[in-house]
Amino acid sequence: MEHIVIIGNGISGVTAARHIRKLSDKKITIISAETDYFFSRTALMYVYMGHMKFEHTQPYENWFWEKNDINLKQGFVKTVDTNSKTLYFESGDTLSYDKLIIATGSKPNKFGWPGQDLKGVMGMYHKQDLENLELHAPNNKVCKRAVIVGGGLIGIELAEMLNSRNIPVTFLVRESSFWNDVLPDGESNMINQHIKNHHIDLRLSTNLKEIISDENGKVISVIVEETGEEIPCDVVGLTAGVTPNIDFIKDSHIETGKGVKVNRFLETNIKDVYAIGDCAEQHEAIGQRRPIEAVWYTGRMMGETVAQTICGNRMPYNPGHWFNSAKFLDIEYQTYGWVHSSANKPNYEQHFHWKHEDATKCITIAFNKNTHVFLGINTFGIRMRHEKFDKWLTEKRDMDYVMKHLQEANFDPEFYKRYEHDILKTYNNELKFA
Ligand SMILES: Cc1cc2nc3c(=O)[nH]c(=O)nc-3n(C[C@H](O)[C@H](O)[C@H](O)COP(=O)(O)OP(=O)(O)OC[C@H]3O[C@@H](n4cnc5c(N)ncnc54)[C@H](O)[C@@H]3O)c2cc1C
Repeated sequence: MEHIVIIGNGISGVTAARHIRKLSDKKITIISAETDYFFSRTALMYVYMGHMKFEHTQPYENWFWEKNDINLKQGFVKTVDTNSKTLYFESGDTLSYDKLIIATGSKPNKFGWPGQDLKGVMGMYHKQDLENLELHAPNNKVCKRAVIVGGGLIGIELAEMLNSRNIPVTFLVRESSFWNDVLPDGESNMINQHIKNHHIDLRLSTNLKEIISDENGKVISVIVEETGEEIPCDVVGLTAGVTPNIDFIKDSHIETGKGVKVNRFLETNIKDVYAIGDCAEQHEAIGQRRPIEAVWYTGRMMGETVAQTICGNRMPYNPGHWFNSAKFLDIEYQTYGWVHSSANKPNYEQHFHWKHEDATKCITIAFNKNTHVFLGINTFGIRMRHEKFDKWLTEKRDMDYVMKHLQEANFDPEFYKRYEHDILKTYNNELKFA
């Protein structure tokens, strides 16, 4: 019987395994160095915040794997020999495969900062990071201040986590405004203010120079690059982005760039070896997407796709319209299609922006300024329906249509206050084309 081995038990590896099982009776083994069972990485923050126990982040009961005849193996894969189709583990074990799926995810970036490996310095990616945080920042007596370095989606989650235990946070952000390489200025400015309103010491245009240790190798402060200021702290969170976690195949024959290079079928340069999820890098970007997409939905879609190919129905990865969601403290964020940041906006893209006076809700809608065709929407504090925007993007609807039907896309629970009337009024005053 053909043996399918999957390295990585995150959303991409587990989705691939589930779908291969649905489609076939092949032998399947999933390997992980992190945890015995699959858990939802996006829910890690809620464990620290006390909203759920770690067990509750596991979408499947522990018996699920045996019942579905999916073997789980704990261990770190050290090297891959693609000639003999053998995996070598750090423990000395070996395992042979017929087909291999690399689904090893990401690791937090470290840029060679002095002190980056001290005790009390951590990323926020793996379960072990959470355990480390619990050890060094259980409360505000043990951790009198934390410094977070890097202002992306994981950085702000870490700020919210620490805030929930009343641990003072200084947030060093290289950009001149929060996440303004992705968000248009109106939104980015709103988030700057929102972070400050939560008593987080946000330092924009600020870089880390060095992390200082006490005599036991534990962090005691950081030094700021621009001013030389020393900020005393007990924990440093490194959240300056992630990179594919693929060091273990660097000496193999599998082609790598930043990630594992794959074609549209998620195949690598080596026959019977595939890569999916955060660690996969497309040879050529699909549409306006980045060649590496470190997001949950991408991993899930790639897992489903590669399962089809492995089970004999060779299928290209076809992600459809871009979408994503996240949270900035208590403000929910959703994005559909393309809304570029002010700095990266192409010439043809124009924005309509509406912001509520309480500065916790806003939307930006991008459209083609020549044809008025709808290109994408960002919403903050208002929940929208994915399928509506997906449809309107496919149908290439124009702005007037989208604005007229905006309330159909609202997904806020019943009795929530609605803002579409106000949004439409602003639009009619400022822009309406017809
Ligand atoms: C705190 C946090 C919040 C996030 N929030 C969001 C969000 O709101 N929305 C969103 O879209 N995305 C979010 N993400 C990103 C999302 O979680 C990832 O895109 C997704 O989990 C990647 O899944 P994956 O299966 O590719 O890899 P992973 O989940 O990283 O799984 C890979 C697994 O492989 C294991 N592994 C790696 N190398 C080896 C080896 N050599 N041997 C054995 N095992 C190995 C790893 O230990 C890991 O368990 C968040 C990420 C984090 C960290």
